[in-house]
Amino acid sequence: MARLAQTAGLTDVQQEILSTVRDFVDKEIIPVATELEHRDEYPQQIVDGLKELGLFGLMIPEEYGGLGESLLTYALCVEEIARGWMSVSGIINTHFIVAYMLKQHGTQEQKDHFLPRMALGETRGAFSMSEPALGSDVSAISSKAVKDGDEYVLNGQKMWLTNGGSSSLVAVLVKSDEGHPEGTAPHKSMTTFLVEKEPGFGEVCPGLTIPGKIDKMGYKGVDTTELIMDGLRIPANRVLGGETGRGFYQMMDGVEVGRVNVAARGCGVAQRAFELGVSYAQQRHTFGKPIAQHQAIQFKLAEMATKVEAAHAMMVNAARKKDSGERNDLEAGMAKYLASEYCKEVVEDAFRIHGGYGFSKEYEIERLYREAPMLLIGEGTAEIQKMIIGRRLLEEYRFQG
Ligand SMILES: Cc1cc2nc3c(=O)[nH]c(=O)nc-3n(C[C@H](O)[C@H](O)[C@H](O)COP(=O)(O)OP(=O)(O)OC[C@H]3O[C@@H](n4cnc5c(N)ncnc54)[C@H](O)[C@@H]3O)c2cc1C
Repeated sequence: MARLAQTAGLTDVQQEILSTVRDFVDKEIIPVATELEHRDEYPQQIVDGLKELGLFGLMIPEEYGGLGESLLTYALCVEEIARGWMSVSGIINTHFIVAYMLKQHGTQEQKDHFLPRMALGETRGAFSMSEPALGSDVSAISSKAVKDGDEYVLNGQKMWLTNGGSSSLVAVLVKSDEGHPEGTAPHKSMTTFLVEKEPGFGEVCPGLTIPGKIDKMGYKGVDTTELIMDGLRIPANRVLGGETGRGFYQMMDGVEVGRVNVAARGCGVAQRAFELGVSYAQQRHTFGKPIAQHQAIQFKLAEMATKVEAAHAMMVNAARKKDSGERNDLEAGMAKYLASEYCKEVVEDAFRIHGGYGFSKEYEIERLYREAPMLLIGEGTAEIQKMIIGRRLLEEYRFQG
């Protein structure tokens, strides 16, 4: 039988990159992932390996020292990495979104300054929209920037920064009053600031505190933090794109490619759950035969594999659409929605196949069971995806009568 989740029409270069990444995942990530996750330990050795492979610069243009690869190549690499350990894909995902936003929207000086070091993985990115009182409703952001000479003074509290501690560059979305009088629509009065800082926790630069890691049920190893700005001074040339009021659109552009990546993560985690389930089902015997020979378990495996294939196909379609230069919000929303829901279901079925052992920390499925729910929330919940999909459908199928 062919492996699940094959992708037709890849170039030789894409196939070579993917086979290198798959090899790295099998040898360097899978054997250590569960132990590191249980200790909530940052996978420094794995991150160093990813740097050597050039993965932090995969989509950064060659002129800035990256590999200049497509979103599809990137997403397929993320799928492989998430198959090994979802947290590792989280380490590169926010970095990728920030690099993408710089590439698409940065001034020439900002690209020259950040992208070469980001391609090497020396500067690592985090992105910050959410606040304690909001995640889905970005228009309710209350953090503020006020102009003071050649600088802006930022105040407010941000929440849920993936890589908040380990990053040295954070793209932060805040409200900016300058040039945007009272009454301006919220999404037209937001600005993305490129905030440079030292990696670590505590007061990492004057006016900027990263309090510590949030203790999470899963998705451990990668740090998720708050960020507190108290009179943080940022030079005007660190407004992304050099123009205030464009932050909302820039962030939404970043999140759109981020959604393809969350879909890819869902595909990777589901594939691993299937691998674990199909393997266990052939080893565990009940009533005189391997449980894989009971039709109820075979049906489960059939459903799981079908979901893995469907999610992969939708994710690939969404990535290819973006790579062709077309708008892909509908496809990315559908892929993210379907892949994260299917991932949760496939993981649960693999957990059930493991019987009581699925509940033991000795079995990898226990970790996947705690990781899958994060995909239902990150880069927009299922309800938010359905709102995006629904709006686009009504545009496409406008009633003509
Ligand atoms: C581990 C982790 C890492 C994260 N990393 C980042 C990061 O790096 N950067 C960042 O900016 N954010 C990050 N987030 C935040 C994440 O994007 C938000 O949690 C997410 O957008 C949901 O927002 P919320 O938690 O405020 O939920 P809410 O927006 O409060 O939603 C609560 C519930 O209400 C539903 N809901 C909300 N509005 C509607 C509506 N109009 N119609 C129907 N239902 C609705 C939601 O679907 C959800 O079920 C992270 C979150 C987690 C858990």
